[in-house]
Amino acid sequence: MDKSELLVSYLKQTEELFGNELYISKASNSHEKNINAKSDLEKYFLEISECQKCALGATRNKFVFGGGDPQANLLLVGEAPGAEEDRLGEPFVGRAGKLLDKILKAIDRSRTKDVYICNVLKCRPPNNRDPLASEVEQCEPYLLKQIEIMRPKLIVALGRVAGKTLLKVEQPLKEMRGKLHDYFGTPLIVTYHPAALLRNSNFKPATWEDFKWIKSILDN
Ligand code: URA
Repeated sequence: MDKSELLVSYLKQTEELFGNELYISKASNSHEKNINAKSDLEKYFLEISECQKCALGATRNKFVFGGGDPQANLLLVGEAPGAEEDRLGEPFVGRAGKLLDKILKAIDRSRTKDVYICNVLKCRPPNNRDPLASEVEQCEPYLLKQIEIMRPKLIVALGRVAGKTLLKVEQPLKEMRGKLHDYFGTPLIVTYHPAALLRNSNFKPATWEDFKWIKSILDN
């Protein structure tokens, strides 16, 4: 699905939820904060949390909407919930999530302080397989709506799968890294998935470079 098809799918889903009163926030591409982001996200969670648009609805335990600071300037996006996330309904709570918390601490942030974390898919694919294009098609509009509500200054895609899924490219991580991409008007950076750092600590210095860059963008 290319970007224009994704927008059409997003508008269709918004129409399903909100009827003909299609509302695209005037400031959706500005980073002026939405003071109602917390309640808007809570309402949106209630609207979509029973989703059965794809087959993952039948196999999930919990719908993993996302979590963190609704006023955050930094939005981290992984590919999909894993087993622990599916059990608890929270993103990045397994071993990779613990490492992510340490990385965030190193840039003076945390899930309660200027970071929101979610995934492209809100439900766990069986055996942690990669998301299918048809699942992304159904689920990515939810991410777009979350972004519209939160208006983050920067999106960071965690890992190759999240990066290529959002950017609609078929590239290795090293080609997506180190560039400031655009995701529907919001700057986007791709870096290593924390699970990759657990498998290979050689990726840690490059990740640290990325997070210093992320911090400098957020601080300016
Ligand atoms: N990996 C992801 O991409 N997302 C999670 O929430 C957990 C692990």
